[in-house]
Amino acid sequence: MKRILISTLVLNLVVITAFTLNADISFQLGTKTCMAKYKGSKQGIATLLSLHDDENTAIDAFNGLPKDTCFNLLEIHQNNLRTLTCNLNSKNYEFDPNRIFSDAGIDSTLKKYNSGITKFPAAVVTQIKTFSADLLKAYGARNRSTYTISIHNNTNEGSLSLTDYIRPNKYHQEARAVFAAEGKDLDDFFLVTELNDFNYLKGLNENVVLQSDNPTDDGSLSVYCAKNKIPYINIEAEHGHKAEQVDMLKIVYGLLKIR
Ligand SMILES: [Zn+2]
Repeated sequence: MKRILISTLVLNLVVITAFTLNADISFQLGTKTCMAKYKGSKQGIATLLSLHDDENTAIDAFNGLPKDTCFNLLEIHQNNLRTLTCNLNSKNYEFDPNRIFSDAGIDSTLKKYNSGITKFPAAVVTQIKTFSADLLKAYGARNRSTYTISIHNNTNEGSLSLTDYIRPNKYHQEARAVFAAEGKDLDDFFLVTELNDFNYLKGLNENVVLQSDNPTDDGSLSVYCAKNKIPYINIEAEHGHKAEQVDMLKIVYGLLKIR
């Protein structure tokens, strides 16, 4: 009995330490380093993942949350850019950290950001695959929710918005359903993988995309989660829309409370 009690106490201590330790985690990308900053507390209902280092409105929104809306945050850092760099044999290889969760995604993001190269060294691919697996492990160890939740920002000029998912645009086949809310900026939207969550957000008059059950494998985290049956929410707002993203975070907090 006593032994059980002691092991339970030790286990609790390990779990609490993992959630509350505000330590940076270092990942190796060849000779380059990428840091993930963790900010957490016992009260955090779930951990938000920020993959793009240049999307800082989302970070400001996290920092601007009221005390009763408590999340934890894992935030990727390297050069304050969207892409990360892996350096091997004195060569830089750039890639999008939200395209590394499948082999096909790694291959196409390397091709996209390193023009002129058609065949990449196996060691580069291996480094990125290891980084991807280690990052998911680090996130999983610091997230007490069954949901994976990412935060992103977009710009008015050309990047992703809700309109991309509405016919006849290029992403419309990636969505099972789209709801455009009256009076809301189309750049501020949620992307979810669960029908229940789509209906919940639609019911609150929020812009929301329900991802297709069989999305194109682009190596993004939302597609990885769909494949692995992990409920996923992306909270995406336009750069500078801090107040809107604070409200969106509060809404997801409310959703998680009843799940
Ligand atoms: Zn992003």
